[in-house]
Amino acid sequence: MSRRPLIAANWKMHGTVASASAFLETLVGRVRPGGPEVVFCPPHTLLPAAVLVAGGSEVAVGAQNCHWESKGAFTGEVAPEMLAELGVRWVIVGHSERRAMCGETDGVVAAKARRALDLGLRPIVCVGETLAEREAGQTLPVVQRQIGAILNACKVAELARGAVAYEPVWAIGTDRTATPEQAQEVHRAIRAQLAAVDGQAAAALRILYGGSVKPANAGELFAQPDIDGGLIGGASLVARDFRAICAAAR
Ligand code: PEP
Repeated sequence: MSRRPLIAANWKMHGTVASASAFLETLVGRVRPGGPEVVFCPPHTLLPAAVLVAGGSEVAVGAQNCHWESKGAFTGEVAPEMLAELGVRWVIVGHSERRAMCGETDGVVAAKARRALDLGLRPIVCVGETLAEREAGQTLPVVQRQIGAILNACKVAELARGAVAYEPVWAIGTDRTATPEQAQEVHRAIRAQLAAVDGQAAAALRILYGGSVKPANAGELFAQPDIDGGLIGGASLVARDFRAICAAAR
């Protein structure tokens, strides 16, 4: 089955209204139907400006996080309803920085993915092992545990509305990219785990690789049979590099 590649920009805690608008203004004219699907995920404060500039274009806007409740005493949190109201269509859940720094457990990540899907948002669900886990030979068990938690809350066909992102923690922001073979091994295992539940949906679901993707290494990663695009952090802050990565996914 051929899957349309998906490239998502994760700006993390970077950017201003002016820089996000300028980034999108050059991007929207270059993203055409038939090429890779492109999603821009800036910080929450930049979402209204991003939706305004990207409106009507082929570039979709996503958030970097959401809560699993609709409202309540959750100071500093943002509900999926609030994102949907703005015209945001995608949301990253379970990024390793949030798992590590905000204590997000597998259960929390699954609850967020569930709630996002219920609200019509398309989740990019992140999984990945730490360096210690890889060195202990635990990569596949860890990733399978993380995927298993998601499957307790979401059907594979529902997840296929969004994407899964395999992001080895040791490769994020480190310039230490997984080799195409290392990444493909995990992507293949993720697809097999999903296919054991629903083969047709697993064949349609995009599995993104994230972790120090650059213009120089994007092509060989995206050439792997189970790598369907990327979640791009640092390199997405440089418009030319991000466009080159999108071009590598064609
Ligand atoms: C990320 O933040 O999801 C990421 C993959 O970052 P980087 O591309 O900088 O490694």
